[in-house]
Amino acid sequence: MTNEIRTVLIKLSGEALARDGEKYSTQVLESIASQISKLLEKNLKIALVCGGGNLFRGRDLVDSHLAISRATADYIGMLATLQNALVLRDDFESKGIPTRVLSAISVPQLCEPYIPNRGKRHMEKGRVVIFAAGLGVPFFTTDTTAVERSLEIGADLLVLAKHGVNGLYTADPKHDPSAEKIHQTSCTEILEKNFKVADGSAIALAKDNNLPMKIVAVEDIENILDENTGSYVEPH
Ligand code: UDP
Repeated sequence: MTNEIRTVLIKLSGEALARDGEKYSTQVLESIASQISKLLEKNLKIALVCGGGNLFRGRDLVDSHLAISRATADYIGMLATLQNALVLRDDFESKGIPTRVLSAISVPQLCEPYIPNRGKRHMEKGRVVIFAAGLGVPFFTTDTTAVERSLEIGADLLVLAKHGVNGLYTADPKHDPSAEKIHQTSCTEILEKNFKVADGSAIALAKDNNLPMKIVAVEDIENILDENTGSYVEPH
């Protein structure tokens, strides 16, 4: 598997950036930047999709007292992902990692618009590309965005980097000591057994389009090419 991998898209959940009640943890940012640097040194092309859950999720407002539609709430969620992308960009750049943000919602004062070929070109030049603002449409999530962007830029692997768990388990290892790690699975098995890996629509899209995935801990991003790291998801 590892020999063919040249382009990797890493999906970070917004919560992966947060710790101890803080929206952003300097330690986590330090760790992510240092691991991304190591992957770039291996000549991998790196793209990122970051969620917004540390700041805002559209569904959080649905049953609130505010007269706000689900669509508007989701647009606010997309803006939260843009905020995270800008934080990551400045953090990476300050550490010497050239980084560009391409946003599905145009904010020309802040970043470039989403243009797939431009993203590919940035990666060819060794820059990290962060795809922000999800797909730019409500009723979706950044899991689905991560699969769609992976397909569009021709990524060889989508890495789902998780906070607090280093792969897929038979049950939640935080609550069930008998939970066992599943080293290899498939999109079909994830859908059939309803494993909580990513949205069902994201998994279905990966399956339909033959995109392999890997589930790893945020701390293991630098080891994504190691076969013993995380859980591998076959694209069928
Ligand atoms: N969102 C959306 N369309 C997209 C991507 C995201 O509407 O294509 C909104 C949605 O409200 C979502 C929020 O942005 O709840 C933040 O994304 P997500 O929940 O995927 O973040 P994560 O859980 O990965 O931190």
